[in-house]
Amino acid sequence: PLKKVNGILESPTGTGKTLCLLCSTLAWREHFRDSISARKIAQRLGGGELFPDRPLSSWGTAATEEDASTYYTDVPKIIYASRTHSQLTQVIKELKNTVYRPKICVLGSREQLCINPEVKRLESNHMQIYMCRTKVMSRACHFYNNVEGELGRESQALASGDKSARQRSWEELSCPYYLSRSLKQQADVIFMPYNYLLDSKSRKSHNLDLKGTVVILDEAHNVEKLCEESASFDLTPYDLASAVDALSVVLEDQAKVVQHNEINAEFNMDLATSGLDMELEDIAKIKKILLQLESAIDAVELSPDDTGITKEGSYIFDLFAQAQITFQTKSSLLESLEQILQYLSSRPGLFVNTSGLHKLSDIIQ
Ligand code: SF4
Repeated sequence: PLKKVNGILESPTGTGKTLCLLCSTLAWREHFRDSISARKIAQRLGGGELFPDRPLSSWGTAATEEDASTYYTDVPKIIYASRTHSQLTQVIKELKNTVYRPKICVLGSREQLCINPEVKRLESNHMQIYMCRTKVMSRACHFYNNVEGELGRESQALASGDKSARQRSWEELSCPYYLSRSLKQQADVIFMPYNYLLDSKSRKSHNLDLKGTVVILDEAHNVEKLCEESASFDLTPYDLASAVDALSVVLEDQAKVVQHNEINAEFNMDLATSGLDMELEDIAKIKKILLQLESAIDAVELSPDDTGITKEGSYIFDLFAQAQITFQTKSSLLESLEQILQYLSSRPGLFVNTSGLHKLSDIIQ
């Protein structure tokens, strides 16, 4: 019967933990499916038996009576999480040595899965995300454009990182990142790095619903550290300074447009636009917020012996509130930052470092 409990298994390296976890959960899943089949048949037969020597009640007992599911969509998905992507690749290799052939999909970041050389070449993860988004919006990445067609075909191999799927011609390849996001709806087993599972922001952005799933955390001794990391951030003086610099560039651009338009208006000429639909005053307000945050952080008194300071968790909210960053102002601030970042990513001319702004936006989120 389905007990719905958590289990912790410990066993030395090389004793076959991964295979045990995979095979037992997959076998249980098949058993669960069999119980549904048996129930469906029993309903049709109205109490009769299909085979005299094998009663329907013996077909699968994975679901208890009170959990009696009659839909195949109720068969729980298995979420298999490990620390790194390469560990997951290892697990998938092991899965291929078993008799099970579930539909699988691997979730990963663009950094891990992107195959567009132009985007991959970019050093910063943030820049990769932005360039990818821009390309996707203008349908300028052919790997992305191929995803739709691929979804119509038998396509699980590519998302699982199967080399044979990668041997297609360059033009035919589909983006594994977007493909895996779509395939996860139909997958029986979803593989993912821990952070996708443990970070609520990630779960939300991938639309991951854990309700009713079987979650396996491989190498779980790393989980505590990861939880700690996902609730932590660092914000350096350099980050803040670069965010302020980036805002100064935007302010200058916008001021030029306003000035230009004042002249144009005098001569009844068309008004110019920078592509950023924000008032000068609002951009200046954001810059002021960052400067206030900088002063609030500067004002924190550190102990002279360089050991840093430790405060209650709620302290961080008070610190941000000193710069008017609160739960009430958060959404509008994030929206403005998003608009500014989008503007900067498509701004012609000299490269503006947006890593500080990106970091701040992540932190506020
Ligand atoms: S759509 Fe996929 S392949 Fe194209 S840039 Fe984005 S992540 Fe890379």
